[in-house]
Amino acid sequence: MSEFWYCLNHKKVEGRDGCRNQDRLGPYDSEAEASRALEKAAERTEAWDRDPDWNDDEVPKPDED
Ligand SMILES: [Zn+2]
Repeated sequence: MSEFWYCLNHKKVEGRDGCRNQDRLGPYDSEAEASRALEKAAERTEAWDRDPDWNDDEVPKPDED
């Protein structure tokens, strides 16, 4: 069975022979699924932006990270 990753370095779908998995989202069963990986990640990032828990710009947490 084929496996597909979405490469964050090259902004494209790659097969098994590609960049390190640390730089990629996946694996996914299909190329289409892999190409949607970034959309899903973007949606999640947007949700975080709207989530007040993540908007702590005005109240810095000194011990963060
Ligand atoms: Zn790549």
